[in-house]
Amino acid sequence: LKEFDIIVVGGGHAGIESAWLASQFEVRVGMVTMNGVEIGSTPCNPSIGGVGKGQVVREIDCLGGLMGKVADRSGIQYRTLNESKGYAVQSTRVQVDKDLYAQYATEEIEENERIELIRGKVVEIEHSENLKTFTITLSSGDQFLAKKLIITTGTFLKGKLHRGEEVKNGGRVSCEQSPGMEELFPKVGRLRKRFKTGTPPRIDRETINYSSLVEQKSDRTSQNFHWAHDPKKRIQEQLSCYIAHTNSNTLSTIRENKEKSPIFNGQISGVGPRYCPSIEDKAFRYLDRDIHHVFIEPEGLQAATVYPNGVSTSLPKEIQQEFIRSIVGLEKAKILVYGYAVEYDVVDTTELRETLEHKKIQGLYFAGQVCGTSGYEEAAGQGVIAGINSALSCLGREEFILGRTVSYIGVMVQDLVTNVRDEPYRLFTARAENRLTIREDNALVRISGYRKALGLDMEIDRYQSSFMAEYELLLHLVENYRDRQSKMSLSSYLRQSDRDPINTLLEYLENEGLSFTREVIRTVAISCLYDGYITRSHQEIEKFEKYSRKMVQWEALIENSNISNECRARISKVRPENFGQLRNIEGIRPATVAFVAGTLR
Ligand SMILES: Cc1cc2nc3c(=O)[nH]c(=O)nc-3n(C[C@H](O)[C@H](O)[C@H](O)COP(=O)(O)OP(=O)(O)OC[C@H]3O[C@@H](n4cnc5c(N)ncnc54)[C@H](O)[C@@H]3O)c2cc1C
Repeated sequence: LKEFDIIVVGGGHAGIESAWLASQFEVRVGMVTMNGVEIGSTPCNPSIGGVGKGQVVREIDCLGGLMGKVADRSGIQYRTLNESKGYAVQSTRVQVDKDLYAQYATEEIEENERIELIRGKVVEIEHSENLKTFTITLSSGDQFLAKKLIITTGTFLKGKLHRGEEVKNGGRVSCEQSPGMEELFPKVGRLRKRFKTGTPPRIDRETINYSSLVEQKSDRTSQNFHWAHDPKKRIQEQLSCYIAHTNSNTLSTIRENKEKSPIFNGQISGVGPRYCPSIEDKAFRYLDRDIHHVFIEPEGLQAATVYPNGVSTSLPKEIQQEFIRSIVGLEKAKILVYGYAVEYDVVDTTELRETLEHKKIQGLYFAGQVCGTSGYEEAAGQGVIAGINSALSCLGREEFILGRTVSYIGVMVQDLVTNVRDEPYRLFTARAENRLTIREDNALVRISGYRKALGLDMEIDRYQSSFMAEYELLLHLVENYRDRQSKMSLSSYLRQSDRDPINTLLEYLENEGLSFTREVIRTVAISCLYDGYITRSHQEIEKFEKYSRKMVQWEALIENSNISNECRARISKVRPENFGQLRNIEGIRPATVAFVAGTLR
């Protein structure tokens, strides 16, 4: 029986980062993934980043993960989202060539000497509590042994595909189904509700009348994700996206066929992502609205298809054809792959710790869509946490927790382990209490200390040290330089001026003959802009941090009559390990929080 320290089941975005980060420690990793499923595939929109997600990609990058690097290498259109809003909520989004993304991700995994790639479907998992090992059996009969097991099975657990009346078993189109949660892990709690997600039809790119659509070119000023890439130099040729709109004909076709929609006729019981609704959802949720954006996005430099973002659907083929052709510019559109929805099993994440290890089954970790999230970046961010922690645990080292006050990954993980999910979870900036501090531009400043403490000795070290040295020098300069007449510090001036702080700081430095790296100038200028808020939020964070890591005895709290029955029931369900988790339980009353805070020393 071949043995590994860690086996990762799954080669999606969660699996890739889990295996990659784990392999950065002295451990042997096996990655098992199904035949016929590409490593790093993008089964929905081939785009990485976006609001709240671009921040995660940079956090992953600063910890040494792969997503940002692979996205840049395969990026064919860049945009900065939320440009009209403040710098704090701006995020980079990169449309990628889906074949190149999968190719580069596969190469990274295959070339890593500490990772062994195993092709096959896991059909049985045995856990020996005494030996503290997991034995996995593939459908071929091959068996492997591991000390730690990371499950990143995405939408595959008992996956069921829907398109009109057609119902098929499968993890996604043209892919097999995996055994469900109950078959693989009888002792692990799955959510009673199943989740679902859907995807739009893919259209032959030669059959679109682009001249009647609005072109959106790749943005030259957006920054690459990976720290070692020249921030603005593109690796691939850049393509445009185009904007189309639905109209009253599109929406009437959908509304008239409500009974043929698996979402509305009872065929699908799973809950879909609120923030990525299907066109059917939009048609019935916004009855007074017929116009919705449809972004026509390329799937690759050579790909025959484009992705019509905004019209995910599980309606029958003929209805998909009809409503797509009602859109101006798509009158002659030929659908090459029809849209569909997939329903799948999800683990109850309140059974997981902040390391993403199962509370009852030591050594078993979960990450990605199987945890009830939706999105590549969310999956990858969890993969980082599970990968690092499984390796640390193998080596008997202290666990790694990235707090919610320093990272979006931390926000997500804490949200997941604290509350029972009743719908797919997606990150966005409003989920973070201190989004002015956890920005895309300062990811290196926020994350570098953690990477160093983990002892991940990667190439990033030298770059990071010089960035941090310049950053601290410039910060010192802007805080201490005072205008002779007004006595105002440069940082106050940047904050109060009506002009863009980055350009103002650049100009000042040029006039003084001082030279700093552009990215450092950007981070310092934005930090100055938010300085007042950040100081206040740091005071809040300090207070919060002081308490949030304090352990709470949930067993005692659920017996405590000072706490309402409802709150006791919620505490008993979640079993919070610390005050931070208790405070984040959905529906917990302020009085309970105050009572528990009073018991902490
Ligand atoms: C139809 C569809 C629509 C989607 N729509 C959206 C959307 O609107 N918005 C959005 O953000 N995201 C969407 N996604 C989700 C997106 O695919 C995921 O968020 C992301 O891919 C999750 O990554 P993951 O690593 O968790 O899992 P996946 O990418 O699903 O990877 C799962 C991996 O597990 C492996 N695997 C599964 N079971 C087994 C087994 N028993 N044995 C061995 N290997 C196994 C598979 O081979 C695969 O490599 C959609 C996905 C699909 C399929």
